[in-house]
Amino acid sequence: MALRLSCPNCGSRPFTEFWFGGELRPLYREGMSPEEDYRRLWLPENAAGRQTERWFHHAGCRRWLTAERDTVTNEIHVVH
Ligand SMILES: [Zn+2]
Repeated sequence: MALRLSCPNCGSRPFTEFWFGGELRPLYREGMSPEEDYRRLWLPENAAGRQTERWFHHAGCRRWLTAERDTVTNEIHVVH
């Protein structure tokens, strides 16, 4: 079965209705060194397993959502 995301506004939809926005990046913290800020922005974890990602529902409500997806199985666990 194809990957589906459950949009909080539109319900369960095929992933082709969404644009992948990448891993959810940590926010900038006061006092963060330039190296830490560079890593935060440009070096994603790209881990095998569960990760938090941003997706944009371009063919539906046109809103961003946050999903936890297992990168090995493509199973979506939580959508906010
Ligand atoms: Zn939607």
